[in-house]
Amino acid sequence: MEHVVYHLNLVSGRYEFVSAAAAPIFGLSHQNLNDAGGDVFARHMLPDDFQMVRSHIADIAQAHPGQRVATTVEYRLSEPDGKLRHYHDSMLLDVGMDGYALSATGVAVDVSKRNEAELALKELDAQFRATMDAAQVGIFVLQNAKFRFANKFLLNAFGYAADEFIGLLGPLDTVVPEQHAMVAEQVRRRAAGEPGSPYEIKAVRKDGSVFPARIVGTPTTINGQPASVGTLIDISEQRAAESKIRELADFDALTGLPNRRLLRDRFAQMLAIAEREKTELALIFLDLDHFKRVNDSLGHSIGDDLLCAVAERLTTAIRKIDTLARLGGDEFILAMPGIPASAAAEVARRLLEICATPFMVAGHDLTVTPSLGISLYPRDGKDLEALLRNADTAMYKAKELGRNAFQFYSSDMNDATLEHLLMESSLRQGLNNDEFILHYQPLVCLKSGRIIGVEALIRWIHQDLGMIMPDRFIQVAEDTGLINPLGDWVLCEACRQSMVWQSAGLPAVTMAVNVAPVQFRQAGFVEQVAGALAASGLEARYLELELTERTVMHDAEINLGTLSALNRMGVDLSLDDFGTGYSSLAYLKRFPVGKLKIDRSFVRDLEVDQDDQAIASTIVLMGHNLRLNVLAEGVESASQLELLRKMGCDMAQGYYFSRPVPAEQMAELLREQPFMIKE
Ligand code: C2E
Ligand code: MG
Ligand code: MG
Repeated sequence: MEHVVYHLNLVSGRYEFVSAAAAPIFGLSHQNLNDAGGDVFARHMLPDDFQMVRSHIADIAQAHPGQRVATTVEYRLSEPDGKLRHYHDSMLLDVGMDGYALSATGVAVDVSKRNEAELALKELDAQFRATMDAAQVGIFVLQNAKFRFANKFLLNAFGYAADEFIGLLGPLDTVVPEQHAMVAEQVRRRAAGEPGSPYEIKAVRKDGSVFPARIVGTPTTINGQPASVGTLIDISEQRAAESKIRELADFDALTGLPNRRLLRDRFAQMLAIAEREKTELALIFLDLDHFKRVNDSLGHSIGDDLLCAVAERLTTAIRKIDTLARLGGDEFILAMPGIPASAAAEVARRLLEICATPFMVAGHDLTVTPSLGISLYPRDGKDLEALLRNADTAMYKAKELGRNAFQFYSSDMNDATLEHLLMESSLRQGLNNDEFILHYQPLVCLKSGRIIGVEALIRWIHQDLGMIMPDRFIQVAEDTGLINPLGDWVLCEACRQSMVWQSAGLPAVTMAVNVAPVQFRQAGFVEQVAGALAASGLEARYLELELTERTVMHDAEINLGTLSALNRMGVDLSLDDFGTGYSSLAYLKRFPVGKLKIDRSFVRDLEVDQDDQAIASTIVLMGHNLRLNVLAEGVESASQLELLRKMGCDMAQGYYFSRPVPAEQMAELLREQPFMIKE
């Protein structure tokens, strides 16, 4: 490497000394060189560099008056052979008190070779970085479980700046905690030199958000140490596309509702559950009436908007577990698990109702009514195809009947639910309008003929239909939950009436009140009874609750608690319609029941039917063995009464004595005691 030593007088501009090595640089002899003076450098230096060197020296001198300062400069000289050479010049400047340099003594070293190599390296590095940063994939180098390198794409993907990331964070800082073990294992394998196959991570950005990414790592060595080079691909878009594809396959593109394919899947699940749990399933086929007219007169685009509006409104009327699907055109299917016929009718009615308000579509007020057909699993079909076909048939029936209506596939269901629906809404009204009254029927002691109790029996005095008997509405009340307010009213009214009679000086008798299964099982039933007693002031021992065998034996263990609580209060319990249900004798013994009521069906043919006689007398015997009173229901004749008396039956009730009568008439019977046996 060439170097030139010099001493330059900056005041005269002359070289006081220049080493011989400088001569060939300028194509001069040593002598000539000294004659040429300092100029020779200035003339050969590239003009920009000359300016730069001059101002560099001037600046330093200005800052250090009266001092000797060391500095370095680099410049290029163009030489006689036409080549450019780089010099690195280290000099000592002597500065005058006025801040102007007096002289420079230095060594200029030709660093052309070094600079070329450095430049090439720099260029390579720049190229490498540009390439890395242009890559649309994350590239990283890992060593000792830390990122040693990360390209722009990777840094952007994670939202870090290079200086917050490189050398500081490792792979575990960039994935969700659940994947730490998995990722640590991958890193360990790469470090051990095992080539990897692609794996997916839930990558965590600096801001904590998560995106799916695919990683491929390859083991390598850097500075003799194990390392790995890896790529990261953000697969969010791919994932979104995949789910879009799945959506397209399963959902109707227009309305976004499930399509036939998804309906089939979901229905298969519903069927499996219905089969296993022996529950019902309802399918509603809904078709818009005259939809074609909308399409024809207003155009398909408005037709489409209307379908979307309908779909949206229908969706509001269904439960989460239901599936509303669009089959295409104006046909919708609603599949509802665990729903009995009456509830399906209720939903159908609600769907009609919500479609009754016109739809606002593109500035038009459109009225579109649906026709609905209902099929029920299992009675109308055991699979989707059969149920769909039958719901479709039912839907056509609804159209024939004038549209904007629903029909069941089975015609008997149509009659039954119509009555049910009429009943339910008017039952609700009846409750609000106090349309119910109680009639009373005497319970007669067979030994004395004395009326020792009365049974309260409910009647509905309907505005249009007149008196309706409980057999027609109690079931509806139970199905709809209305039995709870209704039963509460009966309890309170019966207790109140009983107190009215007692206050009037009539003989105190038992008041028997019927209790429906739903009512008995509701939480708070015991409190309800206590409340009725407290409100009326009736003593508990005058109240008797009539429960059917079925009510009590169903979930016997649970009921035992309620029965015991009532018994502790002092309320009597009797088993109604005894003999028609299935009673476990074991339970019968444990239940705190005081009375059995032999069902009317065994009494009706008592005179002629040997079996009924056997059953009745057995019940009497069994009851007595369990120390229970036995009452016979439905006694209509003297001969029936005679037989029952011979069997040792304790009490009887029936038309033979009296039909159920209003409270005033019952008061008379209580006063007169017309059935007393005169000795
Ligand atoms: P039940 O508790 O077995 O009541 C006896 C039914 O037999 C009453 O019918 C009564 O009128 C009828 N009956 C009485 N003696 C004779 C007779 O000699 N011959 C015939 N053929 N029938 C007789 P009703 O009043 O129509 O009540 C029917 C059922 O409705 C009752 O059967 C009871 O289970 C239910 N019920 C009545 N009132 C209530 C109530 O307030 N709450 C509840 N949950 N159910 C009630
Ligand atoms: Mg009864
Ligand atoms: Mg009965």
